[in-house]
Amino acid sequence: MRQSEVITVIGAGYVGLTAAVLFASVGHKVHLIDVNESRIKHLKRGKSFFYEQGIEPLIKRSIKTNNFLPTMTYKDAISESDFVFSCVGTPDNPDGSSNLSYVFAAAEEALKYMRPGTIYIQKSTVPVGTGRHIEKLFSSSKNKIDYVSNPEFLGEGTAISDSLWPDRIVAGAANHLAAKKVVLLHKGISKTAPRIARLAGLEPKKNKTEYYITNLNSAELIKVTANAFLALKISFANSIAKLADRAGADIKEVMGGVGSDRRIGAAFLNAGRGYGGGCFPKDVSGLISSAAEHGVDLHIMTAASDVNSSMPGYIAAKAKEALGGLSNKEVAVLGLAFKAGTSDARRSPGVKLANILSREGAKVTAYDPKANSEAREDLLKRVILAESAEAAIKDKDAVFIATDWPEFKDLDLVNTKRLMTGNIIVDCMNTLDKKRVEACNLTYLGVGC
Ligand code: ADP
Repeated sequence: MRQSEVITVIGAGYVGLTAAVLFASVGHKVHLIDVNESRIKHLKRGKSFFYEQGIEPLIKRSIKTNNFLPTMTYKDAISESDFVFSCVGTPDNPDGSSNLSYVFAAAEEALKYMRPGTIYIQKSTVPVGTGRHIEKLFSSSKNKIDYVSNPEFLGEGTAISDSLWPDRIVAGAANHLAAKKVVLLHKGISKTAPRIARLAGLEPKKNKTEYYITNLNSAELIKVTANAFLALKISFANSIAKLADRAGADIKEVMGGVGSDRRIGAAFLNAGRGYGGGCFPKDVSGLISSAAEHGVDLHIMTAASDVNSSMPGYIAAKAKEALGGLSNKEVAVLGLAFKAGTSDARRSPGVKLANILSREGAKVTAYDPKANSEAREDLLKRVILAESAEAAIKDKDAVFIATDWPEFKDLDLVNTKRLMTGNIIVDCMNTLDKKRVEACNLTYLGVGC
């Protein structure tokens, strides 16, 4: 492996942009292609079009050092690249299956310009079997192109840190050597991780990365299975939370005791308003649909998805009972991003909750420190957006904490009580300390506690 490779990344979403700036920060020459002109314009000015901790300093620096080259044209970029990463979106179709049109469009366009020996790497999340189809497409070319599945596991909000210190790197291919080269590229990021973290303004971390070279189909299935299992854990915790509510148990205590079993693990057992975002919902529905195509009924995942969809409504119903109805009640929803640390409001439970409350007749004011503008189009028009948490809370009967941003976790509860008309705090992610809330003469409602 050379010190400096020429790499093209196709697709400037969370996955593609993060990979591109990290490879550029290592010292490779990186082209980043996107068909979205506004994204490319932003990047050329050294700016990210979404909020993600640490990403902007890396973009700015790589633009300055001239080895990060955002572009809208394939030809010049692809024809000089040794590695081409596909990171385009794979949204879901109305029937829940994965829409692979961007994946195939990118592969077809790249194929026109790839030199013999280029390695084409799929980072987009695709259903098992997709790579085989792309290999077939590539086999129609006279040039030999190797295809590697190299799924991405980063989480939004921790994208840079997750990519600098990943738990594992997976590369699956028919050609073992091609997969090995992709692993080596990633090892290059790990080696320079402390320096890149400093440039990004992030705290250094210690983490041992495992490297897996697998067959093509296994690599594809690892990615969707990992996300599906995490979604399953969340929905499992939420199902037990409903039981805890009825039975007078406290889900935090229950899952504390359950998660301390090392065979189970505590992560993703927090009950609350459920998962959202651009990955889990579509990965779950994509897995169900791809299993069905293979004649396998994955009803365990259908159940997980149904439980997840029920959670915002469950929380609204719990609050409705405590408030004696929602009609004309003034409520605030704090948190519209699907999780803390990101401006991403795709399929956000906070947005869904705000809309349910509004449909039930409540007057809803919402606020998010980063996601107000992204959430706007999915919010009902009558949901008002506030410019600060204080402005949202003022004169409200109930306040819903729907995203665990630090500023909500550390909310000044004395001031909150003073600003509110009512006294109900609905902790939709079980993120507050119940005793601290009650000590301020506020009524605490959690999920399963
Ligand atoms: P994620 O955030 O999960 O990485 P997104 O869907 O936000 O995924 O981003 C994918 C990006 O890929 C978008 O910016 C989109 O414009 C871009 N894209 C989609 N198809 C193509 C294509 N054929 N060529 C280049 N870029 C593409």
